[in-house]
Amino acid sequence: MAIAKRDIVAGPPELKGHPLADLEQLFLERGERKYRAQQVYDALYIHRFDDVAGMHVLPQQLRETLQSDYRTSSVRLQTVQQSEDGTKKFLFELHDGRAVESVLIPSEMREADGVPRRLTLCVSTQVGCNLGCVFCATASLKLTRNLTAGEIVDQFLQAQKHSDKPITNIVFMGMGEPMNNYDAVMRATQIFNDQRTKMVAPRRTTLSTAGVIPGIIRMADEGQIIKLAVSLHATTQDVRAELMPIAKKYTLPELIEALEYYYRATRKSVTYEYILFDGINDSIDDVRRLGKLARRMPTKINVIPFHDIDFTQPQGFAKTLKPSPSERFEWFLQKLREEDVQVLVRSSSGVDIDAACGQLAFSTEQAA
Ligand code: SF4
Repeated sequence: MAIAKRDIVAGPPELKGHPLADLEQLFLERGERKYRAQQVYDALYIHRFDDVAGMHVLPQQLRETLQSDYRTSSVRLQTVQQSEDGTKKFLFELHDGRAVESVLIPSEMREADGVPRRLTLCVSTQVGCNLGCVFCATASLKLTRNLTAGEIVDQFLQAQKHSDKPITNIVFMGMGEPMNNYDAVMRATQIFNDQRTKMVAPRRTTLSTAGVIPGIIRMADEGQIIKLAVSLHATTQDVRAELMPIAKKYTLPELIEALEYYYRATRKSVTYEYILFDGINDSIDDVRRLGKLARRMPTKINVIPFHDIDFTQPQGFAKTLKPSPSERFEWFLQKLREEDVQVLVRSSSGVDIDAACGQLAFSTEQAA
């Protein structure tokens, strides 16, 4: 695959982000023994070293050459914000001065002691995004470049250091469209899902797309076993195209057809993400159309409240977007449940720290 200019990251190559077989190949090409690659892999992802100097299992000479030839840390933590509800938002600096963020969200608290059963890390896959969804802060940042697999994996490794509980779930739903950085996302996924690393199981790993059809087809054809979520946000082509310009390229009927293909190939259900906007997509007709779409194959619908934060100074249609009032939100949920479909509600985690994609990196990238 040709390397696009935005994929090129200057500086020493990364040690992180190579699945074991690739790392072994790399070591063989360097004239090293294959088992040394396994030792480095274990040191990075099982023992979670950030510095080769601490990998005493390796001979000193190898440590020194690796240290001079490679970058062991792919992202550097700049700030952590913690919300009242326990959500943590991380701002990471990349080696070229760019910034991305990840959000760690606790959920399903145990009644007895309030400890979360689930700890989900939402990771970024690109610096900025060029899909231009009108409700999204990241869309204000033009796409600068794709993240490497190492930068994706390192978001997890660094975020884990700031939690005393293991991260249980990963969702590719931070900055960027993961399907537009497919190869790096899947390389990172190989490491996350590798049983040796004990990071996160495939059934607890979700790729969320704005509806990039070639990526959905590729996941189906490759038999990828991670979960798929799709930002639907509208039940008609016209409204969807207004909210998400990508829908002009990949229309709603084509998207549904691709998802049915995906289901036939993988037998895996799909989650529809649906942000509720006042007067835009919250009518009884929307309920019925959404129910009808969802019943075409096994699906879950994740209904999400919109956060009315206008620091991106939205223009035109974006300016008119408001959250559905809470009574309307509850009414929508109730009506949707009557449609005999599986409905989930995403809580408003981290509202007090603006834990939506792109909102922290926005100011950093604007300044870059
Ligand atoms: S919602 Fe996702 S795909 Fe849409 S602009 Fe934001 S980051 Fe890109």
